[in-house]
Amino acid sequence: MATQIIDGKQIAKDVRKKLKPRIAALLDKNIVPGLAVVLVGEDPASQTYVRSKGKACERLKLHSVTIRKDASISQEELIAIVEGLNADDKIHGILVQSPVPSHIDELAVTLTISPEKDVDGFHPYNVGMMLLGRGALLPCTPNGILKLLEESNIDPTGKEVVIVGRSNIVGKPIAALLMQKAKIGNATVTVAHSRSKDLAEITKRADILIAAIGLPQFIKADMLKDDVVIIDVGVNRIDDDSTEKGYKLVGDVDFDGCFEKASHITPVPGGVGPMTISMLMENTVTAAEKINGLS
Ligand code: NDP
Repeated sequence: MATQIIDGKQIAKDVRKKLKPRIAALLDKNIVPGLAVVLVGEDPASQTYVRSKGKACERLKLHSVTIRKDASISQEELIAIVEGLNADDKIHGILVQSPVPSHIDELAVTLTISPEKDVDGFHPYNVGMMLLGRGALLPCTPNGILKLLEESNIDPTGKEVVIVGRSNIVGKPIAALLMQKAKIGNATVTVAHSRSKDLAEITKRADILIAAIGLPQFIKADMLKDDVVIIDVGVNRIDDDSTEKGYKLVGDVDFDGCFEKASHITPVPGGVGPMTISMLMENTVTAAEKINGLS
């Protein structure tokens, strides 16, 4: 069977297209969904993500605000900014770009975001609702992965899903979502991490392998069984003198080496990344609808 590349760019575009009538319906009521992104410090990757989020809002004609603050900002000042956004009627989604400087308690900031405006889906209220299978604002990257599977007609029911990585933003939530009794769920989920023994023995069980590790090209073909579905969440920069920037982006999976083994595979870039942004747009629209009692 020829390997299919899962085109995250196209699926993300389709998600945005489906949002347009919902945005128009809100506009009819004089509501423009608004997203505020708070960026602290100069982290280059964060700057790129924040720019992409702003552009996505622009394309959908959403109201978008980016608040840039120096890395020296105090926790109290940052919390005051979030409180201001909670009270701002024009803002329906609030996102504080991670990572924040080490002197700031990220959880304290997340706890300040009003759960109904928590478009990242990181507030413990939304995490709890997700675990109960009742989440309205699901975390963007895991939700994007569900969408990629759905649109590629991959039904996880009864499948062995192995997730490598147990972060709060990717590994844990995608595990919780794929084990739910839900249309895109019902999987038998294993979560591996840096303390797992015999990782290759675990990953070889996977019908669907999700890599969220942060190590370039870490998953090799000999760690996988034939016809595996590969979802590569990783985004890593590696040196490449042949490019203008001197680097290129690669995933956590050795794409070329694993390609033949896979039935489906997401590329990096152009796989999970674009989905994350589109699901953020969807959450912003959902939040605007809910806050205004329209869904
Ligand atoms: P974290 O660093 O928070 O988590 C990495 C996980 O990988 C940890 O659970 C860690 O284990 C595990 N790990 C590290 N080394 C190994 C190893 N040798 N064997 C097995 N497991 C290992 O990363 P994130 O989840 O935040 O991100 C993962 C990747 O996904 C990154 O490349 C990031 O840039 C990318 N990303 C992409 C997004 C997108 O939209 N495309 C969105 C979010 C992230 P332990 O817990 O034991 O330390």
